Amino acid sequence: MARVVGRLHVIAGCMSSGKTGELIRLLSRHSVIGDPIIVFKHSVDSRDGRVARSRLGTEWEARVVGSPQEIDPEGCRVVAIEEAQFFGPELVPVVRWLLEKRHTVYVTGLNQDFRGEPFEPMPTLMALADEVSLLTAICQKCHGVATRTQRIIEGRPAPWDSPLILVGGADYYEARCPDCHEVPGRP
Ligand SMILES: [Zn+2]
Repeated sequence: MARVVGRLHVIAGCMSSGKTGELIRLLSRHSVIGDPIIVFKHSVDSRDGRVARSRLGTEWEARVVGSPQEIDPEGCRVVAIEEAQFFGPELVPVVRWLLEKRHTVYVTGLNQDFRGEPFEPMPTLMALADEVSLLTAICQKCHGVATRTQRIIEGRPAPWDSPLILVGGADYYEARCPDCHEVPGRP
């Protein structure tokens, strides 16, 4: 039976939870049956150039774009979008358009920001999804189950009023459990 709408699978989780590895595992099932696949990543996320790379050592060629409007499936039935938080809320109508066009859509991203707050567009995409994979990591401090992303600037936890997306900053991130997650200045 011909499908009327597409299908959305969202892969959410904190830093180091294996989102890209899971995406590549899911995409590889489609390549087995010859589905054309296209992967998009935002130009802000340019660490690895034109590939989506997982910590498992697996990688997938990716198209680098500067905005959600540049996402063009180019006839590929399967469309994957990496690190949705870099695209912002404007990604939501683009994903809905892809679903209307009957694409199978995979989206990865951080569901919470460095403050531990919902990080759009992921919460909205999770609500629209047909399937959600919510992944966890291991807390870098206590080795418990990490669900949060700790931002660290010059060796210290980033304050609440630090910007949501820092481009090219000297900051870094680690996975933390809620008990070890620190946000100085939280109102
Ligand atoms: Zn911990």
